[in-house]
Amino acid sequence: MCRTLCVELGTRSYDLHIGPRLLPRAGELVRAALPSRRAFVITHPIIARRHGESLLPSLRSAEVILVPSGERQKSLRRAARLYDELLSRGADRRSVIIAFGGGVIGDLAGFVAATYMRGLAYVQLPTTLLAQVDASVGGKVAVDHPQAKNLIGAFHQPHLVIADSEVLHTLRARDYRAGLAEVVKHGVIADAALFAWMEASVSAISRRDPEAIGHMVWRSCEIKADVVRQDESESGLRAILNCGHTVGHALESITGYRALRHGEAVAIGLVTAARLSELMGLCERGVAGKIERLLDRLGLPTRIPGTAAGEILRAMQSDKKAVGGTLRFVLTRGLGRVEIVSEVPREALVAALLATGATE
Ligand code: NAD
Repeated sequence: MCRTLCVELGTRSYDLHIGPRLLPRAGELVRAALPSRRAFVITHPIIARRHGESLLPSLRSAEVILVPSGERQKSLRRAARLYDELLSRGADRRSVIIAFGGGVIGDLAGFVAATYMRGLAYVQLPTTLLAQVDASVGGKVAVDHPQAKNLIGAFHQPHLVIADSEVLHTLRARDYRAGLAEVVKHGVIADAALFAWMEASVSAISRRDPEAIGHMVWRSCEIKADVVRQDESESGLRAILNCGHTVGHALESITGYRALRHGEAVAIGLVTAARLSELMGLCERGVAGKIERLLDRLGLPTRIPGTAAGEILRAMQSDKKAVGGTLRFVLTRGLGRVEIVSEVPREALVAALLATGATE
């Protein structure tokens, strides 16, 4: 069954269509939201091969631009090549960009849409679980800088999001599992019932049961849309969506964006943040263990892989300097409740890192 959720942002409001067999209807939905536009689909070769046939006939004369897979493509260099490509094909301000891929394509194509000719309309067609439950919603678009992830970016809301659950069946197991980390995050920050449902549904989730996927995508989008509606440009509340990301980003950067998927790094970050919360007396003992057990049952890593605590602290500091802010942690007060904390004692942080597997 297909359902529609609206992200309420005044004149920038847009619909999320969620459900099975939506790709063949994408053209009709895009034309209804954005009539008479030339469409440019930015995607990876593997996605074009597996799912292009379901999507492209409905988009009629859309042009396809291919980008290799991998976080390393989220770069200014790749964005510059996309500007060249769009220019040479005559894309103008009336064109629409269609981001057809996971979080990497969504962030990169969205960044190009935000900046090419001072901003084009774009549509998100997320093809990974992570992008359907998180990255395609909320309008944060960015490319990475060698010194920090997502350093160069913008807030640029899509005009439409179409999340077809059937595309998720071709995802590699590891990529599917990586998306589950962001669903667990939504449970930790805002919905103890979602967390409990995941604990009770590990087997359905793991076999990609359509109803289980539908529930995870719908509930995650509801939570994210609600947070974004209250704080579109992350001046306060929206930062709770970064739970697990302070340590997660540091681990991604230390491992050169290759060894860990974004969701895997977030999973380890969630456990570390919960341990830190316990050590600082913000929540009762046992919460970190519950989060760790669920992530482990879902097949996600929960231990810091062979990295010294000092190296992680340095990476977090450099990320902090790069983004010009203070080092902030989203800590848990108990499942479903979090708080943004800037003053974290170094000893507690080191103890939480060591307890999660960092070396001395
Ligand atoms: P990804 O986009 O790299 O996709 C993972 C892999 O799956 C890639 O190899 C891709 O080619 C392949 N793939 C994608 N769809 C497929 C399909 N249907 N079938 C088979 N293979 C498919 O990774 P991701 O986990 O989706 O996204 C991670 C990125 O998202 C990170 O850069 C992260 O920073 C970003 N992100 C952004 C936001 C945001 O709000 N903008 C939120 C969370 C994460």
